[in-house]
Amino acid sequence: MRYALSQKRLNTYKKGGQSVTNLISVIPGDGIGPVIIRSAIRVLEAVSELYGFKLNFVEAPAGDAAKRSFGEPLPKDSFDKIRSSDACLKGPVGDTAKDVIVFLRQRLDLYANIRPFKTLPGVSSKWRDVDIVIVRENTEELYKGVEDVGEEHAVALMVLTKKACVRIANVAFQMAETRKKKVTVVHKVNVLKSFELFRKAALEVAKSYPSVTMEEMLVDNTAYQLVTNPQRFDVILTTNMFGDILSDEAAGIVGSLGLAYSANIGDEFGLFEPIHGTAPDIDPSYANPIAQIMASKMMLEWLGRTKGNMAMLKAASSLENAVLSLLQDSKSLTPDLGGRATAEDVTKRLIEILLKEKRIS
Ligand code: ATP
Repeated sequence: MRYALSQKRLNTYKKGGQSVTNLISVIPGDGIGPVIIRSAIRVLEAVSELYGFKLNFVEAPAGDAAKRSFGEPLPKDSFDKIRSSDACLKGPVGDTAKDVIVFLRQRLDLYANIRPFKTLPGVSSKWRDVDIVIVRENTEELYKGVEDVGEEHAVALMVLTKKACVRIANVAFQMAETRKKKVTVVHKVNVLKSFELFRKAALEVAKSYPSVTMEEMLVDNTAYQLVTNPQRFDVILTTNMFGDILSDEAAGIVGSLGLAYSANIGDEFGLFEPIHGTAPDIDPSYANPIAQIMASKMMLEWLGRTKGNMAMLKAASSLENAVLSLLQDSKSLTPDLGGRATAEDVTKRLIEILLKEKRIS
């Protein structure tokens, strides 16, 4: 994955010789979104102060609430704020998700959807030692949105291009090189010949990564293997809709959707979000904010790498440690993890842990 920003983009960060870096656009979203986003921002403010870097937040309303207030789910003003920021932190969006996130992924060419799933001490799960990253192509396939729906027929076009297949395969293999060195390429080529393009691209890219083992798996078998033998996976490389579905399955395997987070990354921009939805069935004050907080951690890692900012990388690592330590305290668990804590309890506790960690280090 290319993390370096283009010169053109770097120039847009400079105004009158002053570098205006670390502007974070924030989409609070709907349902539990505003609660978990507030929590993530408080935690980010705490780590930025502790580790000595500055983050400025600019709200970019989008989603069902934005549609009610401004007449459209992604107002132009919000889009402009997102596009001119350094990174976007997004909360979950309700019924208008397609108009917000699918649009942003395609318009900003955020082609790599990276979704880590790990069993964690303190979190009850049927499994142990699961550590999977789903690398999902984010801009094509059936989610391209080329459809014709009439009274008597419905057609959705599956679009794959060699360029997109090759670049996402490179992301998966580069990631595997830093992990357990295995890529499982997931498709359904036995039924849909179109997947041959995706498969061939992966086989071709694999040649450049001799230390990584590649296997192929049909998506139906992958769904089965995920619930029967999830430890066999390292990096799963797949297309858009398959990645979407397998991600929720993987979240169930490691404990809760409330812990599942993701990055949407292109060559020049990153957008970070939990993979869950707006959780309309729960009291927002009891929402688990950890997925949103871990999405913020991924954002710090990406910003730290793209800008060469060590303080951000340290802050990201400290934040991850703090979350791991919090999860081992049953009093700090929200109801989705079997506890009784509120999002506010989790936020306060996490900030306490971060302060303590920093004092010790
Ligand atoms: P949407 O229509 O917005 O996609 P949904 O109910 O279809 O919402 P999710 O919001 O992803 O899908 O929720 C699936 C289940 O997981 C629900 O029972 C929800 O309460 C739970 N859940 C999701 N996220 C969280 C969270 N952060 N904290 C607690 N529970 C959560």
